[in-house]
Amino acid sequence: MASLQDQLRGLVYSTEHGDTCPDCRQPIADCRCAEAAEEDRLASLDGIVRLRRETKGRKGKGVTLVEGVPLKADELKVLAKELKKRCGTGGALKDGVIEIQGDQREVLKGELEKRGYKVKLAGG
Ligand SMILES: [Zn+2]
Repeated sequence: MASLQDQLRGLVYSTEHGDTCPDCRQPIADCRCAEAAEEDRLASLDGIVRLRRETKGRKGKGVTLVEGVPLKADELKVLAKELKKRCGTGGALKDGVIEIQGDQREVLKGELEKRGYKVKLAGG
């Protein structure tokens, strides 16, 4: 199965060329590929949110990655926004992983636990 990213790229591509999904050949309005990929991603999670610091190839303190949050993409986007605000820093959301600039593991751990998630500090 194509990755979510490939599928999203496919959707963008096909939107420019006639509104059909290249994977399921359905009109974009009926296509559930991205949704199905989301469900696959959620099904593969173990319910534990992992915080990982990544400094390789990053400037300064690097970034803190929040992996495995069991939320759908639109809810993840809201959470990412709230976490960025809480840390007072920038960030991004890529393939279900929230990226927060700087070493924010302690703040994020507290914030996520407050929301009822099981949180583990991983690596770094
Ligand atoms: Zn499709």
